[in-house]
Amino acid sequence: MVDEEVFDQALGDVFVARVAGNFANTDIVASMEYACKVAGSKLIVVLGHEGCGAVKAACDGVELGNITALLANIQPAVNAVKSSNESPHNSENVEFVNATIVENVNHTITQIRNMSPILAELEDAGDIAIKGGVYQLASGEVSWL
Ligand SMILES: [Zn+2]
Repeated sequence: MVDEEVFDQALGDVFVARVAGNFANTDIVASMEYACKVAGSKLIVVLGHEGCGAVKAACDGVELGNITALLANIQPAVNAVKSSNESPHNSENVEFVNATIVENVNHTITQIRNMSPILAELEDAGDIAIKGGVYQLASGEVSWL
């Protein structure tokens, strides 16, 4: 399923910046700045998903090629939920993984605001909104945070 289908939009209606584990880095934030400041997008959705393999790998501390650096972006969320969730702190603990998926979305939204004065200003002025959600694979629904 592509992102347009999740939101019942036509192809081309959604400006998609996709990365495994839905985190923010310079390139992703720049794409969002372009979408909102230049192309006129009104809504940024940070969309995690149920059963995310990248989040699971971060929970397991996987080290593999360039994936190691990618997973480092998700590690702050893993560390944040460790204190409030019971062991084991790995991908076999579904509650731990689910909490990390939610935390990673919230952390990413904070990152976007911190990394981009342009987007923070647009949001403060009410010109854009930034929302987080988790896509549920089984139902096809988005749980908004
Ligand atoms: Zn994923």
